[in-house]
This record gives sequence, structure tokens and C-alpha cells, in this order.
Amino acid sequence: MSIAYQATAEWAKAQDAADPLRAFRDEFLIPPHEGRESTYFCGNSLGLQPRAVRDAIVAELDDWAALAVEGHFKGRLPWMDYHEYVRDDLAHVVGALPSEVVAMNSLGVNLHLMMVSFYRPTPDRHAILIEAGSFPTDRYAVESQIRYHGFSPSLSLIELEPDEPNGTISMQAIEKVLTEQGERIALVMLPGVQYRTGQVFDLEAITALAHRQGCMIGFDLAHGVGNLPLQLHDHGPDFAVWCSYKYLNAGPGAVAGAFVHERHAQSHLPRFAGWWGHDKTTRFQMGPHFVPTAGADGWQLSNPPILALAPLRASLKIFRRAGMHQLREKSLRLTGYLEWLVHTELADVLEVITPREPSRRGSQLSIRVLGGRERGRDLFQYLMDRGIVGDWREPDVIRISPAPLYNRFQDCLTFVEAVQDWHKR
Ligand SMILES: *Cc1c(COP(=O)(O)O)cnc(C)c1O
Repeated sequence: MSIAYQATAEWAKAQDAADPLRAFRDEFLIPPHEGRESTYFCGNSLGLQPRAVRDAIVAELDDWAALAVEGHFKGRLPWMDYHEYVRDDLAHVVGALPSEVVAMNSLGVNLHLMMVSFYRPTPDRHAILIEAGSFPTDRYAVESQIRYHGFSPSLSLIELEPDEPNGTISMQAIEKVLTEQGERIALVMLPGVQYRTGQVFDLEAITALAHRQGCMIGFDLAHGVGNLPLQLHDHGPDFAVWCSYKYLNAGPGAVAGAFVHERHAQSHLPRFAGWWGHDKTTRFQMGPHFVPTAGADGWQLSNPPILALAPLRASLKIFRRAGMHQLREKSLRLTGYLEWLVHTELADVLEVITPREPSRRGSQLSIRVLGGRERGRDLFQYLMDRGIVGDWREPDVIRISPAPLYNRFQDCLTFVEAVQDWHKR
């Protein structure tokens, strides 16, 4: 993209004024810092609270108070079908058919539930492929599944090492491991966006490679959902899971999500079952035989936590109105601006380790502080003291994620000016 970026407040303000999504910022509560709004870049870790969330929760509390058990049927949004109220908007966000997505549990739980069905090791094909730097929960979950099936991680866990200078992984490396070892890989489990480097993986190409080798494939989209316009149905992985408190802004510990591709809608794969996954039309006959609801709903265990789903419902409506493609368009410009600023103004202080190609990154930039950990910690603390909120990843990386729903071009400039002030001290 060839945008003529400029490192001036006038330019940044003009961009913000011309931004077709600018009004969405007002729908969020920006945390204060010393009487002013902070500059929040941590939507990759915990998204900001949409203003609509409080009323959404209070409405359910009121229905509970006024209706008690009758709220299941007579609430303004009857609780019986509550998970269905988020379904269409969730499908929009991840590019799926409504029947392919469900909001339930937390990410780690969903990862296990999906692996129960989609990791079916045999003596010849028992390995799981992950990336070497994977998020701890993903690694622990995969290892424990391998052990649960009586295999050993030392033989059945394949960890793909980064092969690019900043710790990112090339498509060639993925192709190589799948070509060489695909026959013994039962499941490929990769992220959509790597949490530490911010690298975006090519879900379509990786899915095709994995399927060509006869592997099942699932993605952890914790950092992809609400960040990239996903096309899960068309790209065709067998499953995907995500959490909803990062870019999806659904609140701390929010109800997570899962995608099961349509080809498995009527699957007879083993699963861990619960009554809420039972065929909706006969669920309340309370029979002894489990008949799964077709599609992703059939993996549900329990009746959903209404108070925890209410924020997700409110938040997803914002994504629906903004549109994932419009958000991505702004995100490319916004993160592109930050990257350009760091590159042109701060090259002697910071180094961006996230891939430079816009197609290989989302909102997040992972920024290495040159000069080592102590300097890095000092800068991070300085930024926090000025109300500029990113997050820290050992040993020397600050993650800064301009979120297109509520961040501005001015925010990127605020960050850069603060780093300059710190550097000049
Ligand atoms: C945030 C994140 C998690 C967190 O898992 P929870 O079950 O929500 O606690 C797991 N994996 C990845 C890749 C993440 O980014």
C-alpha cells in the first residue's frame, strides 16, 4: 500500500476526521488516566467495554428478578435460545454458516472438546503438529490429549520451529514439515495470528496442505477473531476455537466460540456430550439416548451463562454494523501508519518483529526495544506512566495493537512522541 503517511498531528487528525468508522470510538469506555483518556493499545489482550454492555447485563438481571424461571420462556430475550442470539453475528465475524458456529465455554475447554472429536490417533498416524512458540494453553492441551490417548509427546508432538529472522514461520517451512511428515500427523493445530510475533498465517493454504496429507486441521483464533476478516467456511478447516475477550470486546473471561465445518455437521465422531448439545426438538423429553443437534450446536454441554453471553451479544452487534471488511481496511491503514512511524522516526530505538507485509499481520505490532531487557522494561513503564497501555512479552517485546473500532491515527502519533521523549531524557 502506498499511503503518503506524515508524522504530524495535523495529518493524523485529518485522517481521524475522514475515517468512516470514527463514530464507533464513542461506543466504548476509554479508561481514564490522570483525568484524561488513556491511549489504549491492548485490545489484543482485553478489549474495551462497549457502552451497550451494562444495559444488556442489567436487562437480564431485571428479567431474572421479575420472572425467575419463567425468564427461560418469557424474558425479553428468552434464555432458552440465548446462544442462538449471537449466532448470526458470530458467523459474520468468522465467515461461517450460522450452523457452523457456537458460543460456549472458554477457549481452552473448546480446544479440548474439539480435539476429542478431531484428534483420533492411530498407531500409524498419531502426531499433532503445532508451532514451537505456541501459547502455553495450546501446548498443554495438545500434550495432555496425546497422553490421554496413551501416546507420548516425545514421539507424537511435532513442533515447527521458526525459520525466519524475527521468530516467524515461513509457508515453505509449513509445507516442508507437512510433506515430509504428513503421513504420521493426525492433527495440525496452528494459530490464525501468532500471539507473540503478530504473524498472520495463511489459513486457506495451510488447510489445503494439511488436507492433502490426510490430516485434520484446527485453528486457534484467539488473536484472529475480530481482527481479520476470516473465511472459515470457504477456507475449510475442520474446526476452530477462539476467546471473546480480546478483539471481540466481550469482557474478561467472556464466553468463547467454536467453529465446526459443515462437512462434520452430522458427524458420528466421538464427542463429549451434554444435554444442551442434544437435538433441540427432543431435549426436554429427557431421554437416555444422546442425539446431537446438527452442526456446531451439537458440541454444547450446558445451558449457557446468560450474564456472560449478554456482553458478547452487545459487542457482536457493533462488529456487524461496522463490518469486518471495513474494519480490516482501516486496520491496514492504522497499523500501517504505526509501523511507518516506528520505522521512520524510531529506527534507532525500536524494531518491529511482526512481518512487514500487510497480508502477514493484523492489528498488532510486536516491537522489540533495542538495547536489552532493562531498557525495554524502562520504556514500558514510562509509557504506562503516561497512560499509553500496551503489554509486555519477555524478554524485550512490547505489543501495541491499534484496534480499528476505537483507536485513532492520533493515538499512533502519541505513542511515537512518548518514545521520543523517553529516548531524549
Ligand atoms: C489468549 C489465548 C488463550 C487463552 O485461553 P483461555 O482459555 O481463554 O484462558 C489461549 N491460547 C491463545 C493462543 C491465546 O492467545
